[in-house]
Amino acid sequence: MLSAGAAAQVPLGSDVKARAQPQASHYIDGAYVEDTDGRVIDCIYPATGEVIARLHSATPAVIERAVASARRAQGEWERTVPAERGRILRRAADIMRERNHDLSVLETLDTGKPYQETIVADALSGAEAFEFYGGLASSINGECIPLGESFVYTKRVALGVCLGIGAWNYPTQIACYKGAAALACGNAVVFKPSEVTPLCALQVAEILVEAGLPKGLYNVVQGYGDVGSALVAHPDIEKISLTGSVPTGARVMAAAGEDIKHVTMELGGKSPLIVFEDADIETAVSGAILGNFYSTGQICSNGTRVFVHRDMRAEFEARLIERVRAIRLGDPLDPETQMGPLISAAHMDKVLGYMQLGQQEGARLLYGGERAEVEGFEDGSFVQPTVFTGVSDDMRIAREEIFGPVMSILEFEDEDEVIRRANDTGFGLAASVFTRDLQRAHRVIDRIQAGTCWINTHNVMPVEMPFGGVKKSGVGRENSRAALDHYSQIKSVYVEMGGIDAPY
Ligand code: NAD
Repeated sequence: MLSAGAAAQVPLGSDVKARAQPQASHYIDGAYVEDTDGRVIDCIYPATGEVIARLHSATPAVIERAVASARRAQGEWERTVPAERGRILRRAADIMRERNHDLSVLETLDTGKPYQETIVADALSGAEAFEFYGGLASSINGECIPLGESFVYTKRVALGVCLGIGAWNYPTQIACYKGAAALACGNAVVFKPSEVTPLCALQVAEILVEAGLPKGLYNVVQGYGDVGSALVAHPDIEKISLTGSVPTGARVMAAAGEDIKHVTMELGGKSPLIVFEDADIETAVSGAILGNFYSTGQICSNGTRVFVHRDMRAEFEARLIERVRAIRLGDPLDPETQMGPLISAAHMDKVLGYMQLGQQEGARLLYGGERAEVEGFEDGSFVQPTVFTGVSDDMRIAREEIFGPVMSILEFEDEDEVIRRANDTGFGLAASVFTRDLQRAHRVIDRIQAGTCWINTHNVMPVEMPFGGVKKSGVGRENSRAALDHYSQIKSVYVEMGGIDAPY
């Protein structure tokens, strides 16, 4: 939660928005670069619908320049003593922490997420990633395998130039997560933010250079999907890490497959959150609220299918609605605001469509279901936090990723049944179980098909914890030591200590 000191610092008003316009659209080889021939990208503040910055999508010349600068810088970086790589990343973490306030305001302007969230969740999680991988850089080792007198040694070597492609919900965090692990392993990075949130990654690039990162190792290239696909196909890109939707993931993986490139796919979900009859009710309600309404529901791992045991349902719903009613929507820059707008008017229309669909499908609307009016922000993309109950497994609101504050409550009676129903989805990003029965908690989680799971909480993602999905929710893992395996490859060397003979 926000401290009073931090609240007092929030500068409100138009001067903040004026600061949103970056020096130029792209950041390449340690400097801002502009090419006005590129298609215009209007960065819209979702709370007001105003254009707060105008940038340009990368032209082929910009793409070439970014990849070439990364390629040039990478070789020497890979040969830099790992401890020095780590020191630079840790300095970047310190700078991010010092600038948390400004970075949080920018994140709020870029996404519409309330400052109350961004001040604790975005730049700080980016700083944690730089600190964590900075600490690990000098322990990215191989092994020695004795074979009598001879032996094999292995090295973990960099992949080369890694492309990061971001979604719009966590622009600072995604730019840092993809950069930190890649740079620690000795790679160079070209990062393409979502065209919807182009601002934050530029700050990350500036901070890295200020921390001492040699120029060219972290480049930011703006653009729509066509720029993403041109970068994916570029022959000098060795690895692609995408955070985005399943359809985009399928396209990017297919294109990467043409040249057998490495991929990490962090994609969508429709995760189950299971509440057993013995759960602590306040904890379970808190988990369901955090797992559905934080960031206005725009989180990939949200537990949007809330399975509640029959004996607990009435009590759970009563307490849930009491708390959801009190959620404070409003000006995202007001530190008291708990929920901001959705990312865009187009996305709001999609989410409102699902709110109507739920009612048409026969789910019972317990709360919300409409656009929200916020005084002074009439053109913002605000919707009410929404809760449906009586949802059945076949309804589209229970099957499709809505990516908005729409919770579906589904009733269940026994353990086997809820496990079967929870797994009846093509997604497999996350899952959580709320119960006081330890054995049941582990037994159920063990049988749930999901890459990232929680017991008695939801959406807690420390950088130490591997994050990623199974089934259509993704390939590979972000964060933790596990991500190092996805940003490096093993080189094996057999060392013959005797003479060798040939049969012919
Ligand atoms: P999106 O798939 O529309 O776009 C993601 C990124 O891919 C954007 O930068 C976009 O420009 C780019 N892109 C689009 N087409 C491309 C192509 N053909 N080639 C290369 N790049 C292309 O997703 P979005 O709407 O920005 O984000 C929301 C989605 O992201 C949701 O499905 C959400 O679940 C998912 N997400 C997943 C995670 C995770 O870690 N698993 C985290 C956040 C968001």
